[in-house]
Amino acid sequence: MRGDGQLSHELLPGEKGPQDSCGVFGVWAPGEDVARLTYFGLYALQHRGQEAAGIATSDGEKILVYKDTGLVSQVFNDRALSSLPGDIAVGHVRYSTQGGATWENAQPTLGPTAYGTLALAHNGNLTNTRELMELIRERFGKDLTGELGRGSTTDTAVISHLLHGDEGESLFQTAMRVFPMLEGAFSLSFMDETTLYAARDRYGLRPLVLGRLESGWVVASETAALDIVGAHFVREIEPGELLTINESGIESYRFAEQKPAGCVFEYVYLARPDTKIAGRSINVARGEMGRALAREHPVEADIVIPTPDSGTPAAIGYAQESGIPFAQGLVKNAYVGRTFISPTQTIRQRGIRLKLNPLREVIDGKRIVIVDDSIVRGNTQRAVVRMLREAGAKEVHVRISSPPVTWPCFFGIDFATRAELIANGLTLDEIRQNIEADTLGYISHDGMVAATGVAEERLCTACFTGNYPAPIPTAANITESAPLVHSPRVAN
Ligand code: SF4
Repeated sequence: MRGDGQLSHELLPGEKGPQDSCGVFGVWAPGEDVARLTYFGLYALQHRGQEAAGIATSDGEKILVYKDTGLVSQVFNDRALSSLPGDIAVGHVRYSTQGGATWENAQPTLGPTAYGTLALAHNGNLTNTRELMELIRERFGKDLTGELGRGSTTDTAVISHLLHGDEGESLFQTAMRVFPMLEGAFSLSFMDETTLYAARDRYGLRPLVLGRLESGWVVASETAALDIVGAHFVREIEPGELLTINESGIESYRFAEQKPAGCVFEYVYLARPDTKIAGRSINVARGEMGRALAREHPVEADIVIPTPDSGTPAAIGYAQESGIPFAQGLVKNAYVGRTFISPTQTIRQRGIRLKLNPLREVIDGKRIVIVDDSIVRGNTQRAVVRMLREAGAKEVHVRISSPPVTWPCFFGIDFATRAELIANGLTLDEIRQNIEADTLGYISHDGMVAATGVAEERLCTACFTGNYPAPIPTAANITESAPLVHSPRVAN
């Protein structure tokens, strides 16, 4: 289902790690089966959201949407796709926490506007939602405060309402007026009856790329989704840019001055390894992180193993740099997704075996280096270390290809509450003891940034540093004296 199976943080049923943001897709291609193209695009973006999926299409006169909770392959079948005619489509895969996995919260959203119909797919997280709700209340007399705390549902409802527009205003005019008012992260794919639009916030926090089909254009969260539909990568949609695509061609407009700050966690964990961001292969970047980790935290050991599958490229890099042989020591069940039947408490206690199983013949009697991409609460790593020891490991050395996560993300990634982050308040040695490892090493901030190939000033690294590139919600209290109780906004 997903290229790299980046679900290692969910090894323990009920254990949450950094949860992916959503995936968006859009296509304008007259004469093509745009519903099916979107289906395959969403399939490639499944790792960005597994709770709901949806596709909207337009035949030039009316827009239809089909969406439901579940994986792309569960939501759609031939009949559903055949019921979606047209030349334009937008699609969405959703991850949610507080918004709940309900049909209402699935996207694309669909609604009437001053100019026709709007279908909208959104990835990201706004940080001035309350102010925007006040604006909506004043302008449209609509009170959305009941939506607060419902995850991205709130953001998407806010953007949809603001894009309603005024009488005589086109969707393009409305978007150019509204987007400068939005703070935080948004990568959007949306459409009216005749035009496909794509827009990215001024920081470019979440990725969004443009691709070319023989007969049209594609926009997608990741280049891997262009590959799957046979589209050629053209370029990234720039921070602060709005694209319009219709019969008249493709046009680019700037609604805000760009202040690039792409999410470094896309390189560490979120994006597929076969995706490229800023021209850099994610697989190459992760391998480089592993090499830097080996230089920064060498250790005598017999084998290097990954926490499958997200730790694999970094583990290969660590093995190459250190000269310690790479091995697969843990087997992952790729078919345990979010939708599996919840285990009872008794089963939960044994739950990790649902997703990972050790290869005793590889591990027994060995000194192991295990490489993972990040530690959030530490529960998963502790369980893995115990599992390796039970399988006969003589020593377990944990290496992490990102620095300690100490700050919450307000831009679309749901890590945990700040109080729950294991690196917040514990020393390195206390974390090591907590996860029961013999040694523990995190890559340095500089090592991680260098591996991306992107200048530090063009990246967001706030969850490691607390230096947020964009305003964060004013209601959020992230001081030490009053630690954040809940990340106020979550992934969509
Ligand atoms: S805070 Fe972290 S996860 Fe969030 S956008 Fe910045 S780098 Fe990415």
